[in-house]
Amino acid sequence: MAVLEKTSSQKAIDLENKYGAHNYHPLPVVLSRGEGVYVWDVEGKKYYDFLSAYSAVNQGHCHPKIVNAMTSQAQKLTLTSRAFYNDMLGKYEKYATEYFGFDKLLPMNTGAEAVETALKICRRWAYQVKGISENDAQIIVCENNFHGRTTTIISFSNDPVARKNFGPYTQGFIKIEYDNLKALEAALESNKNVAGFLVEPIQGEAGVYVPSEGYLKAAKALCEKYNVLFIADEVQTGIARTGRLLATCGNCSCENKNCSGTPEVKPDILILGKALSGGAYPVSAVLANDAIMNVITPGSHGSTFGGNPIAAAVAMAALEVVQEEKLAEKAYVLGELFRKKLNEYIENSSIAKLVRGKGLLNAIVINDTEESDTAWNICLRLRDNGLLAKPTHGNIIRFAPPLVMTEDQLLDCVSIIVKTLKEFEK
Ligand SMILES: *Cc1c(COP(=O)(O)O)cnc(C)c1O
Repeated sequence: MAVLEKTSSQKAIDLENKYGAHNYHPLPVVLSRGEGVYVWDVEGKKYYDFLSAYSAVNQGHCHPKIVNAMTSQAQKLTLTSRAFYNDMLGKYEKYATEYFGFDKLLPMNTGAEAVETALKICRRWAYQVKGISENDAQIIVCENNFHGRTTTIISFSNDPVARKNFGPYTQGFIKIEYDNLKALEAALESNKNVAGFLVEPIQGEAGVYVPSEGYLKAAKALCEKYNVLFIADEVQTGIARTGRLLATCGNCSCENKNCSGTPEVKPDILILGKALSGGAYPVSAVLANDAIMNVITPGSHGSTFGGNPIAAAVAMAALEVVQEEKLAEKAYVLGELFRKKLNEYIENSSIAKLVRGKGLLNAIVINDTEESDTAWNICLRLRDNGLLAKPTHGNIIRFAPPLVMTEDQLLDCVSIIVKTLKEFEK
């Protein structure tokens, strides 16, 4: 079939079903265009995107500055591999390390790859710097984590859907309860071979669980006490999503020149992906200071596409947009408004139990069992009413629109959401 031939939604869905592996269960809507906070389906119906490709499209769909950086670089040089230098990578690395306040950056493509990279760096650091004997290093992770889908990463997941029949699993991980400092201290105390603590500042996939105030700061202090690397997976929470440049930053402030004040937590290893490219291209990165990153030597890690010139150009543009359009501040203000408005409705609602989140990473919990299909049905109705969102787990719906939204658009979305939820009131 010719690429330019128009397809109906049903035809596109049928093709995916027949010719594609069934590793997703998409909401039945077929999109063919996006601009800013909007996407359009193949029949021309317009929707608000309230998922933003799992927070990859923070800068909005097809942001002209990012698209321009991508297309002009694509016409000059696309890929050299790291067998040779290219004239974009170093520029990008300087820009991004100054932007986030680290000595060095290791470029990869997807979030899962960046997490794998961080785990490898942490293990090497354990043997070469901390002095743990070879193959004994342990990394502490949290229950209900989501860090991607590679074999090692699913080895320390406790989601049966992601794990079942994919064993044998990778060793070397200790799982503790999220948001539980006592459990963290106990794990650190009872095991001298702990090299790192890998944590999401907010558990996104699990259902937007925001930890208690001060948890991250205290966890980082514990890591310092036991000489263990604090590894922040900010693939979903980073790049302005939660109302600050990084979710590990303190109350809307961070060491970075883009914000003011002091950071709540400075991770030893920072993992970024998703919105690092504004959703235009797969770009991920691991950042750390020299004392940690220098354990990586030629041949010990790599990727054919990691650090390619298109990725470098796109990521620089995407980060500039965050700064120029003050997306962290926007996410903060709009997030407060969103939760306030939804809370006003939820007070007297029988279908929505609560709304939680930070900045524009939010979720509502539906008043039904986790096994029920109510949240799914609400998402279908939201779609009919012009807004796209998806359940995370069972009865939880995540709301994460592009951060370039205006206040009027947000209020319009709130009225769509409230109207839709009311249709499900008993
Ligand atoms: C999405 C996500 C990943 C994985 O990123 P991919 O690009 O899908 O591999 C890892 N960690 C977190 C917290 C994520 O949200």
